[in-house]
Amino acid sequence: MLKGKTALVTGSTSGIGLAIAKALAQQGAHIVLNGFGDAETPKAQIEALGVRAEYHGADMSQPGQIEDMMKFAASRFGRVDILVNNAGIQHVAKVEDFPPERWDAIIAINLTSAFHTTRLAVPAMREANWGRIINVASAHGLVASAQKSAYVAAKHGIVGFTKSVALETATTGITSNAICPGWVLTQLVQKQIDDRAAREGISATQAQNELLGEKQPSLQFTTVEQLGGLAVFLCSPAADQVRGVAWQMDGGWTAQ
Ligand code: NAD
Repeated sequence: MLKGKTALVTGSTSGIGLAIAKALAQQGAHIVLNGFGDAETPKAQIEALGVRAEYHGADMSQPGQIEDMMKFAASRFGRVDILVNNAGIQHVAKVEDFPPERWDAIIAINLTSAFHTTRLAVPAMREANWGRIINVASAHGLVASAQKSAYVAAKHGIVGFTKSVALETATTGITSNAICPGWVLTQLVQKQIDDRAAREGISATQAQNELLGEKQPSLQFTTVEQLGGLAVFLCSPAADQVRGVAWQMDGGWTAQ
């Protein structure tokens, strides 16, 4: 379905971003990977699906590096047809204890980076009259939790940004939508489970059950493969008129 298209997925060396990159590659899209850590394994996994993969290690908190990455993608593939803004970090602390530099980093990586990639990707999408912008927000883009002020602010912000871009592109073949996962068992959440287990002196399994029990009525994690499936749907012709939505995949979290 996506043969000949190019998808750039930020933060795709692990977790949700890597799974979305794989799902799009399975549909034939070439992939530009980004993120920290080992890039060779993800690159090889994508290439094994029969498409081209390139990697750029831009730090999403650095606008200059984001510009380099977008130029790199255009030089290798012509343009970015599918932009998935996924890179994200978390920090958990009360607002009065929240380190200002963590606030700035979360806003830069989880929100502002999507502004930069989008502003740089949209002109070529307009020329082609086709494009998909998928912002990985969160249930925290729709509702809040205590001790996550920066994350909640950034995720609410990206839901608003998604809608604005959807309106600006409404008469074109470009769509802009957000995905709002609940708990997904990636390294970002494993850290919160481990911190909780240590803080409360309980096992990791108990901490995991508590985490799910508090927020996610299904008591099951959303999987990265399910999120990949949703991204593929949003890239399909069936989703041509899905514009400006914040689509929950959260086991009922935000239905409460
Ligand atoms: P993860 O830690 O596995 O992946 C994060 C990715 O972002 C990694 O590839 C990492 O290298 C990259 N990254 C981090 N800082 C970066 C930077 N400065 N520049 C470039 N890349 C950077 O976590 P994940 O759970 O897969 O998270 C992916 C996205 O999903 C995030 O935006 C997160 O907020 C969102 N999300 C996660 C959950 C969950 O439960 N795991 C729920 C809702 C939303």
